Amino acid sequence: MNALTAFQQNPPFFCFASGILALLIGSFLNVVIYRLPKMMEAEWKKECKQFLGTDEDIPPEPGFNLVFPGSTCPNCQNKIHPLDNIPVISYLLLKGSCRNCKQRISPRYPLIELASCLLIIAVAIEYGVSIQAFFAFLFTWSLIALAVIDYDHKLLPDNITLPFMWLGIICNLFGIFTDIESSLFGAIFGYLVLWTVFVIFKLITGKEGMGYGDFKLLAMLGAWLGWQYLPLIIILSSFTGSIVGAGLLLLSKHKKSQPIPFGPFLAIAGWIALMYGDLLTGLYIDWAFK
Ligand SMILES: [Zn+2]
Repeated sequence: MNALTAFQQNPPFFCFASGILALLIGSFLNVVIYRLPKMMEAEWKKECKQFLGTDEDIPPEPGFNLVFPGSTCPNCQNKIHPLDNIPVISYLLLKGSCRNCKQRISPRYPLIELASCLLIIAVAIEYGVSIQAFFAFLFTWSLIALAVIDYDHKLLPDNITLPFMWLGIICNLFGIFTDIESSLFGAIFGYLVLWTVFVIFKLITGKEGMGYGDFKLLAMLGAWLGWQYLPLIIILSSFTGSIVGAGLLLLSKHKKSQPIPFGPFLAIAGWIALMYGDLLTGLYIDWAFK
């Protein structure tokens, strides 16, 4: 009996194994979220210097890529022992501080691992042992990384949105989530819808309400799910975005001129559409046409 049939015959075991894998990938997502923006920034500075031909010193390279070297404590730079790098568990055992310098470790590391675990278990329950589940895992992880990087840096890296848009199109060449026409039109309209909103908003207010990363992210979501899901994604993300935005303004934790990144809301809406899009659309149709 191979692993696949073992999973098929025992769905709870499949969910458990997926959850464990998701904890480990969550740990890697923390690395991506921390390092990728720094790597991109170093690259931009280098390119600017080459382009301008200035004599300013090149800023030092960040000295890491997404795989090497292993994680270090951001405070004391001590290399983190593999036993202290077990997702969630190490954080709890170390009571949330570095073994070497006792500096507090941000709880967001275990929280991202936990979020990865719970979301992937939900996907495993929804899709079961299937090729859809495998790609839905990848989709979920890309959205977690994009949402947190956008929240931190107001940046949606092309290095994630563009390859994942192509991956969505390739998946749907084989009809994994939708047909290829729906996928291609999803990518095209996803980009154009937000681009149009952006242009109109800029003409009226003279301000830029969104970034190009947002267009590419919606193009990616459209490529994965098909154009039919774009209205739902736009409604869900604008709705949750305006509630959170209004809440932040009310609590006056946020200055009015300071933009709130839209990427996290698009990512959450995209994930909900992947998981419960049919259900939500069905409920809406029942409600609208009863
Ligand atoms: Zn330390």
